[in-house]
Amino acid sequence: MNDCVFCKIVEGKQEAELLYKDDALIVFRDINPKAPTHLLIVPRKHIKSVNELEDWDKELMGKIFLIAKEMAVKEGVSAEGYKLIINVGRGGGQIVEHLHLHLLGGKRFEE
Ligand code: AMP
Ligand code: ZN
Repeated sequence: MNDCVFCKIVEGKQEAELLYKDDALIVFRDINPKAPTHLLIVPRKHIKSVNELEDWDKELMGKIFLIAKEMAVKEGVSAEGYKLIINVGRGGGQIVEHLHLHLLGGKRFEE
């Protein structure tokens, strides 16, 4: 956890422009965007991945999706459509081991 880049952003020890913050989560732009809009919705609490979710994280996960919905409106991608992605574990493409939701929009995703 000490070496966790998202914990550092949560604690203000690593720079990131916060687009939204509350007592449970923060939102900032992905440093390596894969779409015109690429946001990361990150809980303040260090949870390694979906695999480590517990019963008491239910409300937090609900908040993450509700803020994603709001951020999509703010970014102007809501009507067009967007992707929400959570990578789980190395095999699932997760690099940062601090649970986060990707919001990707502003382009057409085929398939
Ligand atoms: P994942 O592969 O799901 O773990 O995604 C991690 C994401 O975090 C990648 O898309 C990275 O580009 C992004 N990322 C890593 N470090 C930072 C940072 N300091 N600020 C913003 N985004 C970051
Ligand atoms: Zn962390």
